[in-house]
Amino acid sequence: MDKGEIPDNANEHCPGPQAETAGKSESCAGCPNQQACATGTASNGPDPAERMATVKHKILVLSCKGGVGKSTFSTQLSFALARTDHQVGLMDLDICGPSMPKMLGLEGHWLHHSNYGWIPVYVEQNLGVVSISFTHSESDDEPAIWRGPRKSGQIIQFLKEVYWGDHIDFLVVDTPPGTSDEHITIVNCLKDTGIDGAIIVTTPQEVAMADVRKGVNFCKKLGVNVLGVVENMSGLTQPLSDVKFMKLTTETGSSVDVTQDMISCIRENAPELLDGVFAWSQVFESSGGGAERMCEEMGVPFLGKIPLDPQLCRAAERGKSCFEGNKCSVSAPALKSIIEKVVASIKMKEDLSGGENKETP
Ligand code: ADP
Repeated sequence: MDKGEIPDNANEHCPGPQAETAGKSESCAGCPNQQACATGTASNGPDPAERMATVKHKILVLSCKGGVGKSTFSTQLSFALARTDHQVGLMDLDICGPSMPKMLGLEGHWLHHSNYGWIPVYVEQNLGVVSISFTHSESDDEPAIWRGPRKSGQIIQFLKEVYWGDHIDFLVVDTPPGTSDEHITIVNCLKDTGIDGAIIVTTPQEVAMADVRKGVNFCKKLGVNVLGVVENMSGLTQPLSDVKFMKLTTETGSSVDVTQDMISCIRENAPELLDGVFAWSQVFESSGGGAERMCEEMGVPFLGKIPLDPQLCRAAERGKSCFEGNKCSVSAPALKSIIEKVVASIKMKEDLSGGENKETP
C-alpha cells in the first residue's frame, strides 16, 4: 500500500494507519497490514500540523443536520474568497455524502499523487478542491458506509496527504453534518496550527435551533471560536418576473397558469411594481425568532440570512459561483454581506494578535 493510505484489503473497522491505535486495536486482528501499522512504517509522511503550516486561515463550516445548505455555503464562500484574489482551498470531509464534486462539476475527478502528496483539483487558478470522494472508487450513487474509527482514520490521512502548495490564505473545511468523532478528529488535527473559527449553517425553524445550540456548545467545549451562525433558506424570494401565478380549482386540485393576465394587469395599473419588487413567502415556521434570537441568547454572532433562492439552487447544481453575472440577484448580496463579516472578523482577530494565527479559545 501507499504510505498512509487505508488499503483495500484492510479490515472493516480499520482505524487507519495514522491512528494511535493503528495495528493495535481489536479490529486490526488478522489484517494483512497489522504489522506495518503497528510499527508505524505504514504512516510515514508529514503529520497534519506540518501540512497545515502553509495554510494561513482555517474556517470550519458545520451544520447539525444535513440538507440545510452547508456545502452550498462552503462552496460560495470559497468562490467569494477566490474572487478577492486570495489563494483558497476547499476541503470536503463529508465522507458519507460528499456533494461537493457534483456542486463544482468535478464528478469523476481523482486526486493525483505527486512527490509532495495529493494534489487538489483546481476549479480556478486560485481555488483548489479536495473531496474524500476523489480518493475512492465507489460508484457515485453508493453511499460510503464506514464506521467512526475508519472515518476518522481517513480524515487524518486526508489532512496529512493533501499538498496545498507553498501557501494558501484560506482553507474552508466542509465537515460532515452533526457533531461526532469525525469533528473531534478534524479539530484535533487542525488545532495546533490554529483554527480561525467555525461557521454554523442552519435553517430558520424552531426544531433546527436545538441543533444549532448543540453546534455552538460543541465548539465551546472544544475551544473553537464561533465566527457566527448563518440562517439559510430564510424565506422564498424571487423576482416577480420569475414567479408563476396559478388559479387553483379547490375541488379538483387542478390549476391554470394566469401569469400573463396578472402581469398585464400590473403593467397597466402599476408598472413600477415590475421593477425591483420581489415575491417573498415564509417557508419554514420561525415565529420563535429563528437563528438571530438564538444567537443573542447564546452570545454568538449572527452573520445574516440567505433567502431560499431558486437561482442559487441552479447555480449550485451547475457548480457555478453565485457572484458571476447577475444571476442570483436575491441571494448573492446576502452571501456577500455575510462573507464580508466573516473576513472582517478574521482580520480583526489577526490584527489583535499581531498577525499570529493561533486560536484563542
Ligand atoms: P448540506 O450540505 O447541508 O447537506 P446542500 O448545500 O447540499 O446541503 O444543499 C441542499 C440543497 O439545497 C441543494 O440542492 C442546494 O442547491 C439547495 N440550497 C441550499 N441553499 C439554498 C438556498 N439558499 N436557496 C435555494 N436552494 C438552496
